[in-house]
Amino acid sequence: MRVLFVASEATPFAKTGGLADVAGALPGALARLGCEVTVVMPAYEEVFARQNLADTGIAFEVPLGALAIPARISAGSLPAAAGSPQPRWLFVGNDGFFGRPSLYGGAHAYGDNAERFIFFSRATMELAARLGEPFDIIHCHDWQTGLIPAYQKLMPTHWSAVAGARTVFTIHNMAYQGSFPGAAMPLTGLDWRYFNWQQMEAYGQLNLLKTGIVFADAVTTVSPTYAREIQASPGGCGLEGALASRGQALSGIVNGIDTDVWNPQTDTSLPRTYSAHDADAGKYAARAALAGRLGHAAPDARPLVAFVGRLAEQKGVGLVLELLHRLAGSGRAHFVVLGTGDRHTEDALKHVASLYPGTIDLLLGFDEELAHLVQAAADMLLVPSLYEPCGLTQLYALAYGTIPIVRATGGLVDTVVDANPDTLRDGTASGFVFTDFDADSLEWAVGRALAAHADGALWSGLVRRGMGQDWSWEASAKDYLRLYQRTRHAAS
Ligand code: ADP
Repeated sequence: MRVLFVASEATPFAKTGGLADVAGALPGALARLGCEVTVVMPAYEEVFARQNLADTGIAFEVPLGALAIPARISAGSLPAAAGSPQPRWLFVGNDGFFGRPSLYGGAHAYGDNAERFIFFSRATMELAARLGEPFDIIHCHDWQTGLIPAYQKLMPTHWSAVAGARTVFTIHNMAYQGSFPGAAMPLTGLDWRYFNWQQMEAYGQLNLLKTGIVFADAVTTVSPTYAREIQASPGGCGLEGALASRGQALSGIVNGIDTDVWNPQTDTSLPRTYSAHDADAGKYAARAALAGRLGHAAPDARPLVAFVGRLAEQKGVGLVLELLHRLAGSGRAHFVVLGTGDRHTEDALKHVASLYPGTIDLLLGFDEELAHLVQAAADMLLVPSLYEPCGLTQLYALAYGTIPIVRATGGLVDTVVDANPDTLRDGTASGFVFTDFDADSLEWAVGRALAAHADGALWSGLVRRGMGQDWSWEASAKDYLRLYQRTRHAAS
């Protein structure tokens, strides 16, 4: 299976979010399953800062409206275990578009993002055609590559070398759609007749996410539940109609975790590595180390309830705040919050922490190493998200023997099984799940978790179950490979 994998960011070359983790890990996992994978991404300034890319000698011009924009292709690589098959990494360069300090412009998106990613998408098609390899699948991600399925379908004679390929389009978050004024349509090189509500237009704008959804042979998102949620309002963020009409072609595959980085048996951020057999000792050592970092003389004997993530509305930080006000006074648990957010939220957290010193510890900042230590030290992790396409922190928690307390949304539903008499009996329970997005429901779930924690045998059963699960990329890559095979099969 020859796969052309196209993304606007990939770890470790350039990252703003979860897409980069997927694009950094999935191609390698597919290669280990026998796929020949070529990854294409933009050659940002950040990429050059991290690696000396090699010029491939491939250069061409890309039409963009009335202009012809030069593209130069470089090659990079990732360190690999000896003998392990690796993807080929190619980078589309144009200094004017990508030689900038940020990927998309941050809070103030660059004014020419339409030009930049129309260019990138068209350059990728041109590159694929020039490589002259019979790609079976072109796997695109998010709005930045949404035009590629349209190019592949609508301009088959233009890039005939890839006319036989099938396209897969993966959505990582419906909130980001690549919506631009209709005036950008001529830049695509596609006829105005496609600018209609059933194809490339949404709410009067050119919508590149919708374009990918409409034209791809298969559409995926990062969990089966999110795949269902986005076919209705509010999950679909206005594109629920387009998604529902592709319902037959839409599926969800849960992201994996990078087990080289998130593995308590090898984690160098921990004072003592551990597995399911010595989880108590490993977690106690982590708590002692965390207590030291927090300035406490000794680890607290109470259950440690943690939150790790962006302090954003999407992550349910408002519910966490309310929970702290309600529960901290009871003295039943010790709370640690690691995150960054806007000043207003951080101030509100500082206020509640100041009311309960020694019971609430705040770690405001982005610190990967601390995230590992908190995950290992905690007994429970709060993930009360409003929506969650997949979510990673609950998967890290499971791997580290920390019991997730999650809201029933998106990938959280697909990865955490609520502990109730039935699931405890059949051994599938792995966490605590609540449904309504309000503090009463979160408090109820935390109350159940604290009660369960008091039952040593029950709790260690939950810990062992979570730690025994396989959330590696290998499992997800197998699902993608099956999808590729189905998509090819449906086409022939
Ligand atoms: P999202 O991508 O929506 O922010 P995910 O759960 O998919 O949510 O991924 C969040 C990632 O960011 C996790 O790896 C988590 O550990 C990490 N993270 C979030 N906030 C912090 C922080 N303050 N310090 C360290 N890591 C963090």
